[in-house]
Amino acid sequence: AVYVHGATKSFGDRQVLRGIDLIINKGEVVSIIGPSGAGKSTLLRCLTLLDRFDGGTLAYGDVVVAKPASDGSGIEYDRESIPQARMRFGIVFQDYNLFPHRTVLQNVTDAPIIVQHRDRAKTEVEGRELLGRLGLAEHADKVPCQLSGGQQQRVAIARALAMHPKVIYFDEATSALDPRLTAQMHDLVRELARGGMAVGIVTHEMGFARDVSDRVAFLFDGEIAEEGTPEEVLGNPSDPRTRAFLARAE
Ligand code: ATP
Ligand code: MG
Repeated sequence: AVYVHGATKSFGDRQVLRGIDLIINKGEVVSIIGPSGAGKSTLLRCLTLLDRFDGGTLAYGDVVVAKPASDGSGIEYDRESIPQARMRFGIVFQDYNLFPHRTVLQNVTDAPIIVQHRDRAKTEVEGRELLGRLGLAEHADKVPCQLSGGQQQRVAIARALAMHPKVIYFDEATSALDPRLTAQMHDLVRELARGGMAVGIVTHEMGFARDVSDRVAFLFDGEIAEEGTPEEVLGNPSDPRTRAFLARAE
């Protein structure tokens, strides 16, 4: 599980996250929706330690990565916990970020071998299995540019899963996909959650959020304005900001 409490973040004098409370439990799919500029990517970047909150608490399971500073000013990141936390999550970026000069299989196995020091032969066997599961068996020895966008995305997913994360994040996972691939994505996300993973999704696609999520968090101007089941937040929102957003999104 990932746990965030009271998380804040500013760029200069502009506060972009204003006290975010969010938990994604084991086996749960949570979508983060909200207008452009609301802070979704900033939140995801801070959750994945690509950037840092400047206040609050962040924990992955029992690994407390950051907590309010003891002198009451700002936040304290625990240097020792950061590498441990990194082992616990994976992220699939919108533009996949594959290594262009490594094969599909190497894209999947490099990090477990190099970062996690796992056995090369075993990792390669597992990597091929994972690629098979994602319908990419025959592409293992190609380079990414020989694959379609949907296939590259599945490589990025395989790469994240090869690290055995407990939490996986998707940044705009469906924006470039056709309906058939979006349906596959839905099934895969549900399968990961069933297997006990915590899944966090940032998306602009309300239909996808509604179908795939256990909970939806509506982020508006750096705050979670409303959170609940898809039926509550998307079907019957109580916050006027959510209603206004959904009226424009339909
Ligand atoms: P979108 O749906 O368009 O992707 P978003 O919800 O992901 O939007 P963010 O990218 O998190 O929004 O941006 C939130 C706010 O923070 C915006 O006002 C943006 O201009 C600002 N911002 C983001 N990154 C930086 C940065 N590195 N420096 C300064 N301001 C930034
Ligand atoms: Mg964004």
